[in-house]
Amino acid sequence: MSDEKKVRDCESVVRELWDFLDAELDDATAAEIDAHLEACRHCRSHADFEQRLVDELAGLRRGHTDPEALRERVRAALREAKAES
Ligand SMILES: [Zn+2]
Repeated sequence: MSDEKKVRDCESVVRELWDFLDAELDDATAAEIDAHLEACRHCRSHADFEQRLVDELAGLRRGHTDPEALRERVRAALREAKAES
């Protein structure tokens, strides 16, 4: 069996999304995730959602985001994610 061209399944992509968005993955893995996101709408919406959270958290760390506003936006994002599924 060859695992040279391993196609990622949705589960493994979703599991690595945080590291992907945090740029914690090596180039090869990041490229695989990227390719999967291009092709898969399901994971794409996951990634969009988590990207939004990552951005908000980054703003919070820099002190640019008011925690109350963040909570409200996370709640709205969760509602949106639920409505999509
Ligand atoms: Zn997928």
